[in-house]
Amino acid sequence: MILLDGAMGTELERRGARMDAPLWSAHALLEAPDCICNIHLDYLRAGAQVITTNSFRTHAQNLAAAGPEMAVRADELTRKSVELAHEARRLYQQQCPDPVQVAGSISPLYDCFEPESSPPGQGAHGPHRVMAQSLVAAGCDLLLIETMSKIDEATAAVRAASGLGKPIWLAVVCDAAGNLLGGESLRTLIEACRQLPLAALLINCTDTEFLGQALPALKAATSDGPIRGLYPHTGRNDPNQFVTHAGDARWFAERVEACVAHDPGLQIVGSCCGSDPSWTAELARRLHPTARERNRGFDQLAAMR
Ligand SMILES: [Zn+2]
Repeated sequence: MILLDGAMGTELERRGARMDAPLWSAHALLEAPDCICNIHLDYLRAGAQVITTNSFRTHAQNLAAAGPEMAVRADELTRKSVELAHEARRLYQQQCPDPVQVAGSISPLYDCFEPESSPPGQGAHGPHRVMAQSLVAAGCDLLLIETMSKIDEATAAVRAASGLGKPIWLAVVCDAAGNLLGGESLRTLIEACRQLPLAALLINCTDTEFLGQALPALKAATSDGPIRGLYPHTGRNDPNQFVTHAGDARWFAERVEACVAHDPGLQIVGSCCGSDPSWTAELARRLHPTARERNRGFDQLAAMR
């Protein structure tokens, strides 16, 4: 079992960082880098084994919305997001020698909860390739393509991340029927990924109420393919509400624990929007009750290098 970290964007907001559109979480790379580093560090101290870069809004076209002078800073800011994760790992490992992996986050080009705005065909390949190259050049350990809701953009991103020498994880948002938010099935997604080097398929930023439908579909789709995992958000399936807690950290961890008990094949677990390091700590307490359990997760991570 590998334990992922929790939310970055909503946690930056909770800690008072500037988060207005269009830069959203990219503001903090410019104005509050210490806050980003501290969030990574707090997730590590809570038990996370993988921390995710704050590169959610550092594609050139996201930055361009803030002006042409920002668009040319895409590579610089993406690299900065990796450097801050490295700095947190360095600080953590001064106290604890446990291995830590840095996941380079590759997010949808447009709003995560508007599948209709996702570029059709392989139109997203070029921007995702630039992002993947920046993340790898800066030294991330794996590429985490996340919060995808359409097969076209997801496969374009996986292709873009291919051939760079890093494991590729893909995380998708699901709806109440257990399909991708854009309506396509997980089975169709896996078929579209069959020739692609996908190490893991996960469900993220999804209402925990929907997992009853989504997880059996994930299990069926990955029966002979990539390893599987989940990191749901903490609220309800309304973009205005998914940071509103449907329950507390204990409630959330109980739900995730029940999912893992039902399907031991779920090997990567964490939390998405709305969570904070205390939620990660609760997951760690339940999922890694002994050092031996935790070390098994480290072994899995080492095997992916
Ligand atoms: Zn999320």
